[in-house]
Amino acid sequence: MSRAPRVVVLAGGVGGSRFVLGLRSALRSRGVADTASALTVVVNTGDDLWLSGVRLQPDVDSITYALAGVNDAERGWGRAGDTERVNHELQAWGSGWPWFTLGDLDLGTHLARTGWLREGLTPTEVLERMSHRWELGARLLPMTDAEVDTVVTVRDEDGIRSMHFQEWWTRHRATLEPVSFDNPGVTGVEPAPGVAEVIADADVVLLAPSNPVVSIGPILAVPGVRAALRSTAAPVVGVSPIIGGRVVRGMADVCLAAIGVETSAAAVAAHYGARSGDGLLDSWLIAEEDALAADEVAGLGIHSVVTPLWMTDAARSAALAEAALATAAV
Ligand code: GDP
Ligand code: CA
Repeated sequence: MSRAPRVVVLAGGVGGSRFVLGLRSALRSRGVADTASALTVVVNTGDDLWLSGVRLQPDVDSITYALAGVNDAERGWGRAGDTERVNHELQAWGSGWPWFTLGDLDLGTHLARTGWLREGLTPTEVLERMSHRWELGARLLPMTDAEVDTVVTVRDEDGIRSMHFQEWWTRHRATLEPVSFDNPGVTGVEPAPGVAEVIADADVVLLAPSNPVVSIGPILAVPGVRAALRSTAAPVVGVSPIIGGRVVRGMADVCLAAIGVETSAAAVAAHYGARSGDGLLDSWLIAEEDALAADEVAGLGIHSVVTPLWMTDAARSAALAEAALATAAV
């Protein structure tokens, strides 16, 4: 293809940002100068929440900071070199959650965002504005402008109760048995402006190796997104977040178990389903460690490609991204 391919990727935070960095790098290696015009990321906003009067968007910020090169790679969230002076003060006031740290630089982001939201900008407009500070080399779109924060219903000795996803994930480290994950009100919302259009106009649509339940799940729950994926002329290629029958970095296995999906590359492929049936995938990238699952994936009507899936450094992430693009023949 002589012009730059139009690449759309659905993504969550950590796995999502590594893959997006890989895509930007793969496009640059192909000689695409203006990657921001070629690469659109539809970001999960199910993790978003209000805390201490400000709006947090963990996955949006993870991807923004990673693309800007200002993320704390070691810790896995927030800004490199951040401090916690304001956080200590908030704790002293009893504001927020004692188990949830807000870095000073990070709070600057949240304050700027909240200010613009209060002035009447939509989340899409706010994200557009926030994308100007650094050369991100990608366009970021929230999955929707509506607030559909993920709620986890758990079962423990006190019975059944619900809490915000962040409380379950960060405070309880996903140890409380989840019964269900919901995005209240999501059935009545629309995708953010541009989301359905970029999917329709894409040359390839990619599902990042993000958590299928709480990162990709909320994006697919937004009415219209699933239909856009099913109807686009572009191939839909997914990357398995499961390597060697295990989740990498994180607790996605607990989420998968709650929705009755086994922690295996083939089971997640079956969960997304084949576009030739009533699902979403044309192709599914699986790890060499899961090569034996290739037949099972093929049996689902999904073209499977065995390739290294570890994104342990920039070069490996770029190679994986290139493999995903090549699978779609773009
Ligand atoms: P979160 O929003 O920060 O939880 O991040 P994501 O949902 O985007 O990504 C979390 C998922 O990424 C986990 O379920 C992991 O299985 C997957 N993951 C993390 N690192 C890698 C990697 O190096 N390769 C692959 N294939 N998947 C990964
Ligand atoms: Ca997330």
